[in-house]
Amino acid sequence: MQRIVEFESIERFDHRTGVLVCGFGGAGASAALEARRAGAAVMVLERFSGGGGSTMLSACEMYLGGNGGTRLQRELGIEDSSENFYNYLMACFGEYADEARVRAYVDGAAEHFDWVEGLGVPYKRGFFAGRDVVALTGDSLQYTGNERSFPFSQIATPVPRGHLPADSGHDGGKTLMSVLLKRVAESGTDIRHDARVNALLRDRGGRIRGVVARIDNRNVHILATQGVILATGGFIMNEEMTRRHIPEYASYCTRHGNPGDTGDGIQLGIAAGGHAINMGQAFVGVAHYPPAQLTCGIFVNEQGQRFINEDIYLSRLGHFASVQTNHRIFLFIDNEHFSRPDYHETTRIVAVGETVAEVEQEAGLPPGSLAQTVDYYNRHAASGEDPLFHKAREWLKPITTAPFALVDWSLDTLKPTCFTLGGLDTLPTGEVLTADRDVIPGLYAAGRTAAGIPRTAAGYASGMSVGDATFFGRMAGRQAAAHP
Ligand SMILES: Cc1cc2nc3c(=O)[nH]c(=O)nc-3n(C[C@H](O)[C@H](O)[C@H](O)COP(=O)(O)OP(=O)(O)OC[C@H]3O[C@@H](n4cnc5c(N)ncnc54)[C@H](O)[C@@H]3O)c2cc1C
Repeated sequence: MQRIVEFESIERFDHRTGVLVCGFGGAGASAALEARRAGAAVMVLERFSGGGGSTMLSACEMYLGGNGGTRLQRELGIEDSSENFYNYLMACFGEYADEARVRAYVDGAAEHFDWVEGLGVPYKRGFFAGRDVVALTGDSLQYTGNERSFPFSQIATPVPRGHLPADSGHDGGKTLMSVLLKRVAESGTDIRHDARVNALLRDRGGRIRGVVARIDNRNVHILATQGVILATGGFIMNEEMTRRHIPEYASYCTRHGNPGDTGDGIQLGIAAGGHAINMGQAFVGVAHYPPAQLTCGIFVNEQGQRFINEDIYLSRLGHFASVQTNHRIFLFIDNEHFSRPDYHETTRIVAVGETVAEVEQEAGLPPGSLAQTVDYYNRHAASGEDPLFHKAREWLKPITTAPFALVDWSLDTLKPTCFTLGGLDTLPTGEVLTADRDVIPGLYAAGRTAAGIPRTAAGYASGMSVGDATFFGRMAGRQAAAHP
């Protein structure tokens, strides 16, 4: 497919606007709104008959904090310094982190909460202290990542930063997007549905000046005098791209997103000279809670060895599971703490026994391996210690109540949910960069079309994608609108 068309070859434009936003999900709607507020003429093109994207499907947890705390955190008596927030995010993504982007996010996240709430998204002044992926109590603040677990708890003071629309549970995305789509419509933005962007118009000087979109079964040429913002989501629904960039996940994952996550924006950006980075990273959701009591079990690999502190966030477990032999892991648990997981129906009990040795033998683990692991774990758990992985005391209970079970949590059995974390390299302003990190004039990207704050499953926390998409969508909208 021809993804770049010479601007000078177009004789007549069907439409003309200032800022052209491609994709009407979380990032696109936020970009459109900010560009309008800055006074630009804005047009949005959405591939499907309605906006919302994956953001609409999400729980809309947003990971926010810093500046002493968001209004919600502060009203619940929780303080969150920018330094603490920064230290946490940098620890999450380590050498993968984009420091400039993290800094911009930390500086602006508290104001971003005011912006979202100010649009009319409801937040309840309630804190859920339990261990769950999404609070089902209606409360709007909770822990959503690895804040309370090793090593993160040693690097930054644990603070809850998951902001969830009130009384929405897993449907927070509908709450957010119904408000955002309405506000964009009210703003005077020209919104076109059933309009798939297929190519970028580039002039001989290298500036992006518009797009070619498929509307009503014909190619429509649209001039954008200020900038084009690519906000078309990630590429988890693109078979070829996932096989190339995340082959191990592509082979067993459940693709988590909307059908439009086919990587269009990333491919358009690459065709324009943009550099795609972090393409081998994805969120991998291996939910081992709720119920929280499952955290008292231990995970072992095919060698009968522990490899992680079990009190971590679910995608950190996904990452560590993906690097075990054959991606196979098992939960060893006793009768006192056994339960079926709420989010996975595919877990399978591999072995049950009155002793650890019986379970080990029935499961075919190397002789003595599981027995040795459990013996070592129990000996230290009895005194509230986990010398190997530093699981928090709260979850350290000797595994002693027979019968015992070994439950298959292997990735090919579990089929964890995945979405992509790789995309176009951009400045925090959304400006798309070449491999030499030069700005491509007139081209911006945000949301999962860009490589954002979340860079690895190992450091991801619920809320980092929608928080990033809406925040950096706004940045891109403002930056594009600032162009004369
Ligand atoms: C079930 C589920 C729950 C989740 N829960 C959370 C959560 O609680 N917190 C969190 O942070 N993350 C969550 N995520 C991840 C998060 O929702 C997404 O990563 C994020 O919303 C992506 O936002 P976006 O704006 O980049 O893309 P989207 O919201 O997907 O928007 C992209 C839009 O672009 C359109 N489009 C695509 N191609 C074209 C084209 N060529 N031309 C025009 N339009 C096009 C698409 O149709 C879509 O409407 C969840 C994901 C899922 C699937």
